[in-house]
Amino acid sequence: MPGSCDVVVIGGGQAGLAAGFYLRRAGLDYVILDAQSRPGGAWRHGWDSLRLFSPAEYSPLPGWGMPRQEGEEFPTAGHVVDYLRAYEQRYDLPVRRPVRVRAVRSAGDDLVVDAGTWLARYVISATGSWECPYVPDVAGREEFAGRQLHTVNYTSPEAFRGQRVVVVGGGNSAAQILAEVSRVAEATWVTLRPARFMPDDVDGRVLFGVATRTAAGGAGGSVSDLGDIVMVPVVRAVRDRGVLHARPMFARLTAHGVLWSDGTEQPCDAVIWCTGFRPNLAHLAPLLPAWQQGEVATEGTRSVNEPRLYLLGYGDWTGPASATLVGAGRTAKAALVVAHAAECDGV
Ligand code: FAD
Repeated sequence: MPGSCDVVVIGGGQAGLAAGFYLRRAGLDYVILDAQSRPGGAWRHGWDSLRLFSPAEYSPLPGWGMPRQEGEEFPTAGHVVDYLRAYEQRYDLPVRRPVRVRAVRSAGDDLVVDAGTWLARYVISATGSWECPYVPDVAGREEFAGRQLHTVNYTSPEAFRGQRVVVVGGGNSAAQILAEVSRVAEATWVTLRPARFMPDDVDGRVLFGVATRTAAGGAGGSVSDLGDIVMVPVVRAVRDRGVLHARPMFARLTAHGVLWSDGTEQPCDAVIWCTGFRPNLAHLAPLLPAWQQGEVATEGTRSVNEPRLYLLGYGDWTGPASATLVGAGRTAKAALVVAHAAECDGV
């Protein structure tokens, strides 16, 4: 039954669970509301071959690290789901499912979380971005008669066997999907900006170290300074096959393909948009009237305009590497430290 508590956490993926760990340790009265019917957050929905880009021991949530997966150096998404399920059981985190929060409003000293109606002194929003896929507004999208899908709808290369496929995007999803689609289809890779590859010897282990230094306020640059694409084995393999060459963005889609800026048309059967996500924040609109979609103004993890609101896990704007497993714990801890200090100051 809905009720009243110190903190309502919205979202029960890795960011929400990391918050739960520290709230529990602080002895606060809290609840985690998650829209899905089962644990695992976005890791339930990745494509079939999706794996972590680092060994298990480099992707810990606070308190209890991810166990190694038997026979696998880089754990599968299914293993991450199992870990998140076991994590919430281990710490007996009070996750309510399926509960979708439609709106958060201010009512005097309380925040009203509209999902049955919970009252809270603080709200932590940790809803991720998987539910908000982004596709650029490219001319001809309505006209194209072939298949268009986003990363969120891609499961495996088999659906594209023997076809002509254009993969759009300059990040890890695009590179990894290109790697497997190009084995069964005639694939063309297109990026909005020139692709930035990380050095071969940079995997999650190195990223872990860089994120740790950044989180500690150290010098030496952030993870994104190293590049956008981690050269995991499947991506190195596609490079070795000579397929990892991106063309600049096409001018428009036509009924049967893409039109390049030099006026030539290339027929294709499918376009896979690996063009990223936007933060999933629509439930905060009533609380932040000036908010115009996109990021919310924050200082660390705390909303500038609503000091009872914290945001976790959306990207570097909510803390260094906060949208990764290892970063989720650090930013959750930082949020609790700030909230505690504010409480002591009576802010
Ligand atoms: P999510 O996992 O999306 O969880 C949010 C939860 O909130 C979901 O359960 C959702 O249903 C729920 N929710 C949403 N809206 C509401 C609402 N209104 N009310 C209630 N509940 C709601 N990170 C790494 O550390 N290592 C990697 O190797 C790695 N690889 C990645 C590969 C890909 C392709 C992608 C996309 C990401 C990868 N990441 C990786 C990044 C990151 O770990 C994930 O994006 C992660 O799932 C984000 O966790 P989260 O808890 O912030 O959000």
